[in-house]
Amino acid sequence: MSQTNVRFFTARNKILLAVAATMLAVATLIPTANDTELTLPILNFSSDSSEDGSDNEAAAALAAELNDNLWQVEPGDNLSYIFKQKGIPATELHQIMLTDTEYLDLETLQPGMRLGLEFADNGDFHQLTLYRDAARQITYTRQEDGSYQHQAETAETYWISEVHRGQIEGSFYLSARDAGLSEGQIALSSQLLGYKLNFRRDLRAGDRFTAVISREMTGNEITGQTRVESLSLQRRNQTHYAFRFKGHYYDENGKSVTPAFLRWPTQKRYRVSSSFNKNRLHPVTKRRSPHHGVDFAVMTGTPVISTGDGIVRRVGNHPYAGKYIEIDHGGSYTTRYLHLNKILAKRGSRVNRGDKIALSGNTGRSTGPHLHFELHIDGKPVNPVTADIPTDAAVKRKDLASFNDWREHQLAVMRDAASTSGLQTAQNTRQF
Ligand SMILES: [Zn+2]
Repeated sequence: MSQTNVRFFTARNKILLAVAATMLAVATLIPTANDTELTLPILNFSSDSSEDGSDNEAAAALAAELNDNLWQVEPGDNLSYIFKQKGIPATELHQIMLTDTEYLDLETLQPGMRLGLEFADNGDFHQLTLYRDAARQITYTRQEDGSYQHQAETAETYWISEVHRGQIEGSFYLSARDAGLSEGQIALSSQLLGYKLNFRRDLRAGDRFTAVISREMTGNEITGQTRVESLSLQRRNQTHYAFRFKGHYYDENGKSVTPAFLRWPTQKRYRVSSSFNKNRLHPVTKRRSPHHGVDFAVMTGTPVISTGDGIVRRVGNHPYAGKYIEIDHGGSYTTRYLHLNKILAKRGSRVNRGDKIALSGNTGRSTGPHLHFELHIDGKPVNPVTADIPTDAAVKRKDLASFNDWREHQLAVMRDAASTSGLQTAQNTRQF
């Protein structure tokens, strides 16, 4: 990863980070009258800080360095508009989007992101770079045949944990929000805890919860990625737990909290018409390119089901991938369903394993009706047919010892945060 990218983290964000660090330090020193004092606010590091003078200066310096070929994405911007403004032929964008079919990276363009647009000496467009966060950049580089090559680079990252505590007053949602959890973290937490208890019926004022949230860092900078490491909910005489382990959530005994994954995204099994292949000869373009999913030969209108519990993270319409839906399964797992005819679930909504989320179709660039299904583990596409997915209901026997270690570590983090001398943050040196 280049040095340049790291510097895209703005001065203002660094200040926010320093403030956050100070608050962490202060929080550990304050004797706690009640648990909520240990609560840490979630700071919105990805906020648009274009009003900020220092940010503008930094951006201006970078822009000059990159020959004015840097574009800060504003609300309402899309690639067609940006390419037009820069005088880049639409055919180049089509070629880029064609490559993007197997990645869907450019569909995530959001205000505040930065794009790099580079030209060759003769003025021809050469490369598009998407700076996604402080640790990640994606480039689309023009090849001799006019196609574009996708490359993703990720800087070294690590995770730090924060402990959020609260008491139920009113709904879990409001109490968790007061404790500093984000919308996504609340949705996941209530889904994970909701398997063992009925939130409306079983929760009482005064019930206590603890959430260990990890924040991804690169160097001293926050990338904006977070994850829920562990949860506890203490009711009168019972405590419910969820621990993230190897990208899936388990209770204190190593039993899966969420239902095991389904292998197939349809009620019936269908013929595989094209397999997962990192280097496929594409049937339409006749070029070698990866096929990051499995194609099933299904008629248009076939019900598509979510292979696991989760939250609808994205719903989109890509020029080549067609109508698609992406489900975030909470831990390491994400699934995508492409070329759909109709999408039946809304962005942000919760879905359960086996729920009908769409009807298959033939949208985008496609050789005929089929369902393209992808499984991603930690952001990387894997073969859904052969991948090691948690279809079991418990931690595997060979992993039990390390699960028990991890559980004890997480319990200690939760417990220590309750004492004045305890650790408020803990760097997770172990990766699960
Ligand atoms: Zn496909």
